[in-house]
Amino acid sequence: DSTVDTDPVPERVTTADGRAVEVAANVGSPTELAPAGDRGADGVGLFRTEFLFLDREEPPDEDEQYEAITAALRAFPDDRVVVRTPDIGGDKQVPYLDLPTESNPFLGQRGIRLSLGPHSALFETHLRALLRAGATDEGGRLAVMLPMVARVEEVVAARERIETVAEMLDDEGVDYARPELGAMVETPAATYVADALADRLDFLSLGTNDLTQYVMAADRENDAVAELQDPLHPAVLRAIDRTTTAAHEGDAWVGMCGEMAGDPGLTELLVGLGLDELSMSAVTVPAVKRAVREIDGDAAATLARDAVACETREAVAALLE
Ligand code: PEP
Ligand code: MG
Repeated sequence: DSTVDTDPVPERVTTADGRAVEVAANVGSPTELAPAGDRGADGVGLFRTEFLFLDREEPPDEDEQYEAITAALRAFPDDRVVVRTPDIGGDKQVPYLDLPTESNPFLGQRGIRLSLGPHSALFETHLRALLRAGATDEGGRLAVMLPMVARVEEVVAARERIETVAEMLDDEGVDYARPELGAMVETPAATYVADALADRLDFLSLGTNDLTQYVMAADRENDAVAELQDPLHPAVLRAIDRTTTAAHEGDAWVGMCGEMAGDPGLTELLVGLGLDELSMSAVTVPAVKRAVREIDGDAAATLARDAVACETREAVAALLE
């Protein structure tokens, strides 16, 4: 019954056999913060900062970004808030940035590629706002997440930028703190080097919307190939599986913030695959929390192992029945 399902579950949840699974919200604008809290989200697993840059004539300054980030932290005083650095490019065009016209924008200068390349000044301003926000004590715990990572070098470079900004703030006598740092795993390359990423980061978060697009080579916006944009394809499940295993071997926690995280029909599979955190549109948080409580850890692990061994999505779907 859907009216029962959306009743918030304010407390944190564990599986029936006691494993904690965080159920957080994806937030795309400040107006989504309060509804996420109302639904009982355990913090924010993906704060999409693109809203700060879209539909305007010039980029936001440091203080405006600082205010937006601290507002999110204040909305979740007891929880973690994962802020993704701007994922501009691809489908998210920003006219005043003069981004080059690309014949394959989804394979072009997106996310961390722009931040480390032509828009490093913008990235520096963003990092200053983040590090300052990390020092506010009236809000939740800040974590920072890099989008579109494909190489270890990008993580190393991003950390160097963070250190440069930290030195700058030191020199200026401005309060700051270094937040937890993580990467989105949404390129096939990132799944293959997830061990190396996990060694250098606090967490990984699977962006299965893009990961499915790139694993299946099927544009997420092209209806003609919508059938291929399928996170239940064994190739995608195997990509998730290798990532969760690598994360845990590297002592990093691992979450998922793509759409599939919000499907309560997939919660057992995802917990069996080893996800520590699931982040989703706020409306599905209560249903996923209820689904977590029903899970037996051993049964979930068996389901995941069987699903990963499947050859077709039909076989996976049959297992989930
Ligand atoms: C994803 O790719 O799964 C994701 C969460 O990021 P976005 O949908 O913003 O690209
Ligand atoms: Mg993405």
